[in-house]
Amino acid sequence: MNGSTDPNCLFCKIVAGEIPSERIYESETLLAFKDIHPQAPFHCLVIPKVHRATLKDLGEHDQNLAGGLLLAAKYIAAEQGLPGYRVAMNVGREGGQVIFHVHLHVLGGRPLKGELG
Ligand code: AMP
Ligand code: ZN
Repeated sequence: MNGSTDPNCLFCKIVAGEIPSERIYESETLLAFKDIHPQAPFHCLVIPKVHRATLKDLGEHDQNLAGGLLLAAKYIAAEQGLPGYRVAMNVGREGGQVIFHVHLHVLGGRPLKGELG
């Protein structure tokens, strides 16, 4: 599944522009857009443009992709002027993952409390 897209994947369709999204950051390999159901005043998703279903599907060759997601989250949070924020990834159905295209949640805009699990 290297460098691939999945024609049935919602986020692949967002990357392709077939489904609209509010894009806030884009590079050659990554895309970030606003979450459609924000759980904080600021809530975006950072995704690789290539299709990977879950973190479990990333391998050694995906080091740049994995690191890039985190650095993009940091860049976006700084650009948004967030003094603190939360970065989270749900992995697998049992981990709360609903969309099976790897994504980081970036949340902020108010003091974040609560349990993670
Ligand atoms: P997860 O539970 O980690 O798989 O999160 C999936 C996230 O995708 C949820 O926070 C949804 O609100 C969000 N989402 C679903 N459909 C869309 C969409 N079309 N545009 C933006 N975000 C979406
Ligand atoms: Zn996909």
